[in-house]
Amino acid sequence: MKALQYRTIGAAPEVVTVPDPEPGPGQVLLKVSAAGVCHSDIAVMSWPAESFPYALPLTLGHEGAGTVAALGDGVSGLKEGDPVAVYGPWGCGLCAKCAEGKENYCLRADELGIRPPGLGAPGAMAEYLIVDDARHLVPLDGLDPVAAVPLTDAGLTPYHAIKRALPKLLPGSTAVVIGTGGLGHVAIQLLRAMTAARVIALDVNEDKLALARSVGAHESVLSDAGAAAKVRELTGGIGAQAVFDFVGAEPTVRTAGALAAVEGEISIVGIGGGALPVGFGALPFEVSVHAPYWGSRGELIEVLDLARTGAVSVHTETYSLDEAPLAYERLHAGKVNGRAVILP
Ligand code: NAD
Ligand code: ZN
Ligand code: ZN
Repeated sequence: MKALQYRTIGAAPEVVTVPDPEPGPGQVLLKVSAAGVCHSDIAVMSWPAESFPYALPLTLGHEGAGTVAALGDGVSGLKEGDPVAVYGPWGCGLCAKCAEGKENYCLRADELGIRPPGLGAPGAMAEYLIVDDARHLVPLDGLDPVAAVPLTDAGLTPYHAIKRALPKLLPGSTAVVIGTGGLGHVAIQLLRAMTAARVIALDVNEDKLALARSVGAHESVLSDAGAAAKVRELTGGIGAQAVFDFVGAEPTVRTAGALAAVEGEISIVGIGGGALPVGFGALPFEVSVHAPYWGSRGELIEVLDLARTGAVSVHTETYSLDEAPLAYERLHAGKVNGRAVILP
């Protein structure tokens, strides 16, 4: 089968032919319908050889959806042809976090060498994908695989961050979304569907800000050194009760800290390497700062349920597997508005 692989540190990913995989006991083979292109892959492909954590070659793609093609020995509850989305942050399934469905925070995944597809295990940017356990699959149940596949990360990750901030997002509150790309433009829609908060979007790119407004942001602000002051002005000096930073670089975490309200919540979701000093006087009183990772299995089910109500619609642009390297180039250049999706 064809697969998109990251093969050489620092080089672009390549479309190659690899053996067709076969499901072992307990595994499920999917015929991949769609695989999403996440900015995290670009970060992964920038890591140096000394600290690169995965074995190469690595088939990319940690957002996957497909149809069941074959079941390994002992798998029940699914049948060939079932359309499903893949829950990506695989865990051991047995520890206390996994028992809560929080496999993203599995206590034993590292020790057991369990990795998400596309982030260690072979990913979804291939004609077929091996899924290690049927519990990692959520029925699409009427959702279109192309529109739904980004929800497995670009939907689930903001959903998890927003859900924990809900007690702060009362009527009259303000939520700020920094970086309105793949994750951010879904976050705006989730905030509109789940809260009565006023949503202010920040980005450096006018096209992204236009998308932010079209998916429900009440205000859009250019993300520059004056952005925090502008948000304070828009909120009568109070600031934002919740800030979601989908860039996470030095300037954006600084902006997040400067525009948070007293008792506000800051979620640093982007992995841009920025760090926010916490300590008395460093931030407005009683601000909490979190750096969440992905979300739980239960939350993925909730995100897909929400999508079935029509409240969330991901803006997608599609590429064939042969065009997948181009999709990464365009994402790197800031030219993807919404989420790029590969159709293997
Ligand atoms: P993306 O490229 O689709 O979107 C990023 C957006 O940020 C773009 O619209 C870009 O114009 C904007 N941006 C860049 N610099 C900015 C600045 N200084 N101020 C405001 N906006 C700026 O990327 P994505 O796939 O949505 O991923 C977003 C981030 O989230 C990445 O860092 C990715 O690695 C990370 N991520 C984290 C998790 C997690 O679990 N923590 C999960 C998925 C993705
Ligand atoms: Zn991702
Ligand atoms: Zn576990």
